[in-house]
Amino acid sequence: MSDQLADFFSLLENRIDSGIVELMERGSATDPRDRLVNKSKFCLKPKTTREVSSILYEANQRGIQLVPIGGSTGLVGGHIAERDNQVSLSLERMNGIQFSSEDNLITVQAGAILADIKSIASDAGRFFPLSIASEGSSQIGGNLATNAGGLNVLRYGNIRDLCLGIEAVLPNGEVISSMKALKKNNMGYDIKSLLIGSEGTLAVITAAILKTYPLPINPLTAIISVNQPCDALSLYNQLSEKFPDRIMAFEIMKYTGINFLKKTGFKVRYPFLKEAPWMVLVDVDVNIGSTSLREEVLQTLHDFLDQNSANEIILSNSLEKKKEIWKIRELLPLANRKIGSLCSNDISLPITKIPDFIKDADKILFSFSDKIIVNCFGHMGDGNLHYNVFPTTEESRKNLEKSRYEIIRIINDLVTKFSGSISAEHGIGRTKSEELKLYEDKGKFHTMLTIKAAMDPKGILNPGVVFRENE
Ligand SMILES: Cc1cc2nc3c(=O)[nH]c(=O)nc-3n(C[C@H](O)[C@H](O)[C@H](O)COP(=O)(O)OP(=O)(O)OC[C@H]3O[C@@H](n4cnc5c(N)ncnc54)[C@H](O)[C@@H]3O)c2cc1C
Repeated sequence: MSDQLADFFSLLENRIDSGIVELMERGSATDPRDRLVNKSKFCLKPKTTREVSSILYEANQRGIQLVPIGGSTGLVGGHIAERDNQVSLSLERMNGIQFSSEDNLITVQAGAILADIKSIASDAGRFFPLSIASEGSSQIGGNLATNAGGLNVLRYGNIRDLCLGIEAVLPNGEVISSMKALKKNNMGYDIKSLLIGSEGTLAVITAAILKTYPLPINPLTAIISVNQPCDALSLYNQLSEKFPDRIMAFEIMKYTGINFLKKTGFKVRYPFLKEAPWMVLVDVDVNIGSTSLREEVLQTLHDFLDQNSANEIILSNSLEKKKEIWKIRELLPLANRKIGSLCSNDISLPITKIPDFIKDADKILFSFSDKIIVNCFGHMGDGNLHYNVFPTTEESRKNLEKSRYEIIRIINDLVTKFSGSISAEHGIGRTKSEELKLYEDKGKFHTMLTIKAAMDPKGILNPGVVFRENE
């Protein structure tokens, strides 16, 4: 350990708490994509906002770089320290959750686990809609820092839409407290929205006030086999025209996903009689109060089948069946991880362009190499695809790894041509900072740099994340 770090830690231990510095345990900061390795050896674990403020103040004075870490489930490496003189900062000891039945709001500390927040809301008869496969370990501070999306964005928005108030600590130790549960608040700049999605580069988020919603009563879940993405789009158009605001999730999956699940040993019950080239998974909130739209939604699905646009439609008629169907979708990222992608592209497109994008991207990629498999799935209702590229064999992996950036560029160029985004919900982190510079509007990129320089002039918070160092 350098003298500088030793002095810093001894000051924190004397002034704050003798147990505030911990050795970084193996596996406490990992990259779910297994590409980056955490180099930080120490983790600071404060218990209060005041302690966070002291840590940042002292680190800023000394130019010590800090890497905020939540549940370590981020997919772009924002929580992974690049050097051993960087210090991780975890808010896991700040994990309070308080539900208020007076206004149905939840006040949380940043280290609270997402699944715990959802379960406390549910125990109170309310629904906190942020739903991601990593909810058992991701923390709300990490969710806010990445502006997490997930399955229910279509109806409830991403976490930026679910957050009313925020508390955060700036790199110089100053506390921003905007813990006001207001729908309307035009007192100057919207700093809350700026900090949400800032990936630990502008401030450390310490607490938030979140909205909850009525628990959906027995939503209708259906999985539909279609031949092509344009059929999925047609179903989306028909449902959203008739039932605006009722569709909770509209997911698309290619059959490749089923093959991947089989190959990696995940046990799922395949719902269809025949092979489904593409599958759509939809949740519709059909009951509100005494009004039920179940029959009308079922009729729309039957009409869709009659138009010969669907091959098969499977409805869930029990909670068990619903879980079984959703398990297919939820296990896909884990199967992908086991197989190991060449590149995972979290992109968003105008929803009407999705079929054309998939057709064009497949065509260009397969002419680039016939040793490629694409496992494409995602939150189609949000225009968000995970267009993930894999080698056909371990042998072809070696060659294709050399062309990884070329493949990423092919996809990103096409996304840009279709007026899409190269990062829909996972953020930029460390792995996409070069791409951000290349594909983001110059004016916006320079404004972002100006904001970073103003809020963190010494560059102590998450250097290398969003922007390359010395940008
Ligand atoms: C299987 C799987 C499925 C996933 N599905 C989805 C999905 O559907 N939708 C989606 O949006 N994401 C998804 N993700 C990505 C990931 O779960 C989210 O990005 C999540 O919000 C990260 O939370 P975390 O607590 O794990 O943060 P970490 O991974 O620890 O950190 C993420 C970023 O936030 C910063 N950070 C963490 N805590 C704070 C804080 N208190 N203050 C400031 N900065 C902080 C870190 O520095 C880092 O830049 C998935 C990941 C996995 C592994």
